[in-house]
Amino acid sequence: MAEFGIPQISTGDILRGNIARGTELGKAAKELMDKGQLVPDQIVNDMVQARLDSDDVHAGYILDGFPRTLAQATWLDTHLPIFRETPPLVAINIRVDEAELLRRITGRRTCTVCKHIYNIYSHPPTKPGVCDIDGSLLSQRSDDTESAFAERMKAYDSLTAPVIEHYRASNRFREVNGEAPVEQVSESIVAALKSLRQFKP
Ligand code: AMP
Repeated sequence: MAEFGIPQISTGDILRGNIARGTELGKAAKELMDKGQLVPDQIVNDMVQARLDSDDVHAGYILDGFPRTLAQATWLDTHLPIFRETPPLVAINIRVDEAELLRRITGRRTCTVCKHIYNIYSHPPTKPGVCDIDGSLLSQRSDDTESAFAERMKAYDSLTAPVIEHYRASNRFREVNGEAPVEQVSESIVAALKSLRQFKP
């Protein structure tokens, strides 16, 4: 994240990278992801552990899309101290209403080359299906369908919502309104991180 000079670690991106490279992990994950289901905790935890063993995480990092289950959250609490000296763990929930989430997910299109993200409803490219920046084709994620969305919401309600309570119960949680304009959401996240970084465990 540019504001803090720390890397953003997205478990979804790491999984999609494995799918693109055709690894065994990618093959195991693809079917679950396309259906909108979560990948098993052990697989994701091992992936995060391997990423946090890298050299660029000393000053901190953003975990994006992780933890998504209580088991992942407690694994992180237990294992964090062994990931060398990193700042204390804090959590931010970016809150967006379900109807708006559906619009963002089914409307999302990504440039196959520069990875710029468009939304056909709220931020369409000038020419449909083509990136304004480099003229490459746009693609849609295979799990950004209405049926996968319904499954993803079910997984969220039963497995991820309890994670919010896990962090809310401690002094290391903030919620920001994800429906505000993009710049305002970014400002709220930065403000939340700055206030949480004062937090001492
Ligand atoms: P995302 O890119 O965060 O929307 O994640 C896309 C998909 O990857 C999810 O629907 C899950 O199938 C899988 N995934 C990403 N992060 C996790 C996680 N922390 N635990 C389990 N599955 C995950």
